[in-house]
Amino acid sequence: MLFDFILKQTKPDVVKDSMVVRGRQILLAVIHNHRARRYLLRLRPDGSVRLTIPRRGSVIEGRRFAERNVEWLARQLERLSAHPVKPKQWLVGTEILFRGESVKLEAGVNGESGNIQFGGEAVKVNDHEANLRPAIERHLWRMAAKELPPRVLEYARLHQLPVRRISVRNQKSRWGSCSRRGTISLNWRLIQTPAFVRDYILIHEIMHLQEMNHSSRFWREVERACPDYETAERWLKQHSTLLK
Ligand SMILES: [Zn+2]
Repeated sequence: MLFDFILKQTKPDVVKDSMVVRGRQILLAVIHNHRARRYLLRLRPDGSVRLTIPRRGSVIEGRRFAERNVEWLARQLERLSAHPVKPKQWLVGTEILFRGESVKLEAGVNGESGNIQFGGEAVKVNDHEANLRPAIERHLWRMAAKELPPRVLEYARLHQLPVRRISVRNQKSRWGSCSRRGTISLNWRLIQTPAFVRDYILIHEIMHLQEMNHSSRFWREVERACPDYETAERWLKQHSTLLK
C-alpha cells in the first residue's frame, strides 16, 4: 500500500551489526541516510557506534571505512570510559557512587517498584516517579546531614579549633566552604566519596578556621592533619563530574 511505502521511505533503515575494537566487541548500528554525503562514524554515549552509509554507498564499503578508522574509535572509547557521561535520570539498574563505590539501584523485594535498594540502603519512592534521582538524592542528603556534622566536631575538637555552625547543603560547584564567622558548609555529595576523601574535605575546611587562605602555611597544616591529602585531591579531580 502506498501509505506503508511512504512510511518505509521516511523511517531510517537501521541494521544492527558489530565490530571488534582492541579486542572488544562493539555494537554497530548501520544506518542508510540518503542525505549523507559521505560515510560517517559516531560514538554514542552508551558506547555503541553508529555508521552512516551515504546515498549510493554500500554496507561493505561502510565496514571498510569503519575498519580504517578503528584506531580513532579506540581513542574515542578510551575517552568515554575516562569521562563517563553522567546519567541525568536515575532508574533501576543505574549505577551511582555511594561511599566511594559504584552501586546499582535495585528494585526491592520481588521487584516491587515502591522500594529501591542500593549499598545496604532502602528508599521508598512513589510508584509514579519515573526518575528515581530526586528521591534517592533526598535520602543521601538526609544521611549526610546526620553523619557529617558529628565528624566535623570530632576533628574540630582534635585540632582545638572553634566551629560555630555546620550546614550540609546542595552546592553545585564546591565540596565545602568556611566563613570568617566560623560556619562550615559541606556538600551532601560527600556521602558519595570514599571516607578518606570526605575526611580530607572536613579537615581542609576546619583548617580554614585558623587560616582563611590557601597559603603554604595553610597547606602545611592540612598535610600535617591529613598526610595523604594529595591522593584525595586527585580522586576529586578524577570525579569532578559529581559536581556540575
Ligand atoms: Zn580551601
